[in-house]
Amino acid sequence: MPDVGPTQETILRDYPRLGLDDTLDFHCGKGMDCFTNCCRDVAIVLTPYDVLRMKTALHLDSSEFLQKYTLLGCTKDQKLPVVLLKMNTEDRRCPFVTDEGCSLYAHRPWACRMYPLGLAEPKGPQPAERGFYFVIQEKLCHGHGNGPQRSIRDWISSQAIDTFEMMGEPFRDLMLNEFWEKGEPLEPSKLEMYLMACYDLDRFRRFIFETRFFGIFDVDEARIEALRTDDEELLVFAMEWLRFSLFNAKTMKLKPSVMDSLERAAANDGIACETPR
Ligand code: SF4
Ligand code: SF4
Repeated sequence: MPDVGPTQETILRDYPRLGLDDTLDFHCGKGMDCFTNCCRDVAIVLTPYDVLRMKTALHLDSSEFLQKYTLLGCTKDQKLPVVLLKMNTEDRRCPFVTDEGCSLYAHRPWACRMYPLGLAEPKGPQPAERGFYFVIQEKLCHGHGNGPQRSIRDWISSQAIDTFEMMGEPFRDLMLNEFWEKGEPLEPSKLEMYLMACYDLDRFRRFIFETRFFGIFDVDEARIEALRTDDEELLVFAMEWLRFSLFNAKTMKLKPSVMDSLERAAANDGIACETPR
């Protein structure tokens, strides 16, 4: 977790591009003289799945977790908010670090698992634009050059990152949409919806169950039941909802009765109805 991270331009231009079979010479553990140095004064961007894991581990409602442990930042182009883990005001340490290490180790965020690796995902079809791993080297971390040599694949597997990558896939799909590059910044109501659906899942659950949502959208009963209690299913559903509401993707279906009313209203107005079915 870099304290002041390299810029995306620097990474894409200067950093060696590593794949899963390249190797890393790195050791980290409790006996290191730098133990927990990396858990202080860092900008850790949380993914929606990070928030889900951490608020569950802490037995907190998502709104409470966000309020207590996070700050809102913004991407460089000012188009999107990002959720950052809030460091303690007095000592700038992560609220979860102890002398024994991370008190949330089994549920620590993706960025903490990856460190000292970073993942760059340039957009574009050319080979030079494919995603790659890179190594973050900072003075505060003494783990480099202490071996053993291990493949990036092995490192990633040792950090149990696969679940985070799998659960991060729907969010990644959302983020890679060209809308973010070409579209205008989100208007306040859509921004609010984005933040709620991505990060404030308990509030999103109330939104879908305490409004006419399921009277409008065609969602099968088994899935509705799962959405009542299964946070991971809810997160996948929330990403589908965002892709529908932001990009008009065909990820949600209106109920036939709602569709008929819309078509009748459109016919009365003499215009074609373009709402996705
Ligand atoms: S969440 Fe855990 S690993 Fe990540 S910075 Fe905090 S204490 Fe360190
Ligand atoms: S070796 Fe690096 S990652 Fe491990 S505890 Fe030290 S500073 Fe943190």
